[in-house]
Amino acid sequence: MKIGVPKEIKKDEYRVSITPSGVQELCSLSHSVYVESSAGDGSGFSDAEYEKAGATIVKSAKEVFDISEMIVKVKEPIAVEYKLFKKNQTLFTYLHLAADKTQAEFLLERGIRAFSYETLEVNHSLPLLEPMSEVAGKMAALMGSVHLGKFNGGSGILAGGVVGTQRAKVMVLGGGVAGKAAAEIAAGLGADVTILDINRQRLHYLNDVTPANVATLYSTSQTIHSLLPECDVVIGTVLIPGAKAPKLVTKEMLSTMKKGSVLVDVSIDQGGCFETSYATTHSEPTFIKEGIVHYCVANMPGAYPRTSTYALTNATLSYVKDLAKYGAEDICKEKPHMISSLNTYDGKLYNKAVAEALDIPS
Ligand code: NAD
Repeated sequence: MKIGVPKEIKKDEYRVSITPSGVQELCSLSHSVYVESSAGDGSGFSDAEYEKAGATIVKSAKEVFDISEMIVKVKEPIAVEYKLFKKNQTLFTYLHLAADKTQAEFLLERGIRAFSYETLEVNHSLPLLEPMSEVAGKMAALMGSVHLGKFNGGSGILAGGVVGTQRAKVMVLGGGVAGKAAAEIAAGLGADVTILDINRQRLHYLNDVTPANVATLYSTSQTIHSLLPECDVVIGTVLIPGAKAPKLVTKEMLSTMKKGSVLVDVSIDQGGCFETSYATTHSEPTFIKEGIVHYCVANMPGAYPRTSTYALTNATLSYVKDLAKYGAEDICKEKPHMISSLNTYDGKLYNKAVAEALDIPS
């Protein structure tokens, strides 16, 4: 199969969808890989490395899309990329369609066979969301801590305090992959951490594996309400796969928080779990509402592209190989778990949660 790797052009996005060693594996299976010139620069991979691995370097994104049967990306296509797609082309990438009706309508109208990373479910886990959630979770604790700094609009409390002073209180909403990573780093910085989840089995596990300064609580609106006035940082990492994130902190609830506290909305790519959130970028990552600092970067792992590209492609490569082997037509027959990854195909929407979120028939 002819596989295309365009350069990511979303603002401040430096990841690339396949590493040179991934290209080498695909080429050894007789596939052809077309990489847009400089696509790997942001992650530290030169055109020469890709060429050595067997890729053909092409000058423009247009050429990549024109030649390729399947496009493998990192982030969802943005408006300027829409015109590049051929009818019924296969796309494998993060889509996050539940929060992006315009993109869903484009994919349907163009008949794109779009498989998403984030909805792929294997044995009750989300293997292609996991690596980026781990990066985003670790970053969330660091960003929360940095934005407590007075120079960033924060209240001026140091996460771990020092002898004779209070530590920051960090509440993590959702104890999945991102939540666990966030809690571990916040705990490592010395903060008092509480993780909330609605999955009791997960709370048991977190209780067993996290350090002593991490407490677990069952998540209800009332519990969140009662903890907010004491929190210095709230990290939102809840997920209902495919669906829009539930709004766990409303605008009204912000008035109960201390001024200069920080909200980090990791779930922003699914619409955000704080009512007052909107997506921000690495160059302008925060805004202040009701005296509360909001950090809502939708592509957090893009800030650490070297780590993130390796982590992502380690996870995606075997699925790219399967898609290249069987094609969009037969993949779901040969690898039934891929049906959970399929979002749109020849003008039809396939993911139930996405269909419900967008009110489009599936
Ligand atoms: P996950 O499925 O591992 O964890 C989500 C957790 O939320 C689950 O344990 C679930 O039980 C819990 N949950 C659901 N509803 C809840 C509620 N009402 N209260 C408390 N907990 C609740 O998901 P993940 O892999 O950790 O991903 C979390 C989110 O982070 C996703 O939306 C993902 O897309 C996003 N993400 C964002 C970025 C970014 O750059 N902003 C990067 C990676 C991942």
